[in-house]
Amino acid sequence: MIQRKIILALGSNLGDRLNHLNVAVNLLNDMIDDIRCSSVYETAPWGYEAQPYFLNMVLSGSYRGSAISLLRFCQTTERIIGRTPSFIYGPREIDIDILVYGNNVIDKDGLTIPHPKMSTRAFVLIPLAEIHPELMIPGINITVEELVERIESTTDVVKWGSLDGVS
Ligand code: ADP
Ligand code: MG
Repeated sequence: MIQRKIILALGSNLGDRLNHLNVAVNLLNDMIDDIRCSSVYETAPWGYEAQPYFLNMVLSGSYRGSAISLLRFCQTTERIIGRTPSFIYGPREIDIDILVYGNNVIDKDGLTIPHPKMSTRAFVLIPLAEIHPELMIPGINITVEELVERIESTTDVVKWGSLDGVS
């Protein structure tokens, strides 16, 4: 299979949040080449507000398998880190979402790529703009930079540090 550029979004708001991000990136590194990470951002919870703040980041890399195999790999990684089933928008040790899989637009088998909410969410777009501002989101055909300009409020997304710690 050809190598595709993939982009993942990671978030944690339970337990040792930074450690969960670090363990996730180390595990993902087994299957994803040339990983590039954004800074780590602290963000207010979204959808369900009575829960701790998240640490969020995005990473890009190259991946050789199918989109479904990438989803399974992300889910296995979530399980290893100890994500117990929560509810939608609820708290989690780690959440790993596929934002982009090459230029593909996919909507089948419970998998939607590009991630349907990525074009409006500040906690995804702001870290993504740090590493790939010129990226054109497949199917939407707007660059990350342009999408960031359309965000109404960015106050709930604050640069926190990096995988090495708070800065
Ligand atoms: P959320 O990330 O929306 O808070 P979950 O992580 O529990 O919730 O994911 C719910 C479902 O979303 C998963 O069962 C998965 O199959 C599906 N899903 C659809 N598209 C994607 C995607 N692009 N990346 C990750 N999961 C996805
Ligand atoms: Mg998810």
